[in-house]
Amino acid sequence: MNTINKPLIIIENLCKSFEDGDVLRNISFTIREGDLASIIGPSGCGKSTFLRCINCLELMDSGSVTVAGVTVSRKPGEVPSDEMLQKVHELRTEVGMVFQSYNLFPNKNLLQNIMLAPMVVKGMKKDEAHELGMKMLEKVGLKGFAQKYPSTLSGGQSQRAAIARALAMNPRVMLYDEPTSALDPELVGEVLQVMKDLDAEGMTQIIVTHEMKFAKDASDYIIFMDKGEIVEYEDGDILFANPKNDRTRAFLRHFV
Ligand code: ADP
Ligand code: MG
Repeated sequence: MNTINKPLIIIENLCKSFEDGDVLRNISFTIREGDLASIIGPSGCGKSTFLRCINCLELMDSGSVTVAGVTVSRKPGEVPSDEMLQKVHELRTEVGMVFQSYNLFPNKNLLQNIMLAPMVVKGMKKDEAHELGMKMLEKVGLKGFAQKYPSTLSGGQSQRAAIARALAMNPRVMLYDEPTSALDPELVGEVLQVMKDLDAEGMTQIIVTHEMKFAKDASDYIIFMDKGEIVEYEDGDILFANPKNDRTRAFLRHFV
């Protein structure tokens, strides 16, 4: 929502490769508290890997990621130490992540889906988790759906429930990897609205998306990635009106 707050995510010289080659090439970037950043770019350019490295779901080969004051850093070739893995664990507790596929537990109702992690991971008492679960469902507009099972929900409702489940762990940052790509077009808006509401509350969010209108209108800035690099980042209106880089221009041409 604003760009004057202090940095919450600091990425320095992040590198990651798989057997087939470099996927992230020396990425450095800062996201401030309360920012909503959209990541766009062609398929295979490293967007998902970038997100997964931010919460250390994928450990970087080298470089560092700091989230809410917790830093995981690695030198080239360094074998992860117990201390590093402890930091990975700490960092992950600050980050909620939502994927294209909702991954709700099919044999639990929505409330149980949300209560599970706070109880199991944080040792929260059942009553407290129940109250929290209801609050989170209300936040995403699913108050009346507590007893419903995932199979009875629309894709939009499922994705909102997945967001509620991530929020229940009280993250400082939310990451979304193409959260609306699997949805029928008429259900996209309700999921994007949840992110807009969270932005208004001051949540820090990074969204990999193909929803260009959302990226342009709702985000504080857009990060354009290509071939494992951040090519350009800019306010949405400026990026769309006047892309500085040829690669950005060529990519955006697909959307006008
Ligand atoms: P995007 O999300 O932008 O489509 P990805 O981050 O998924 O891109 O992938 C970037 C590149 O890294 C692709 O070439 C992909 O094949 C490769 N890649 C991603 N994850 C793995 C993995 N776990 N093992 C090997 N290669 C991977
Ligand atoms: Mg991806």
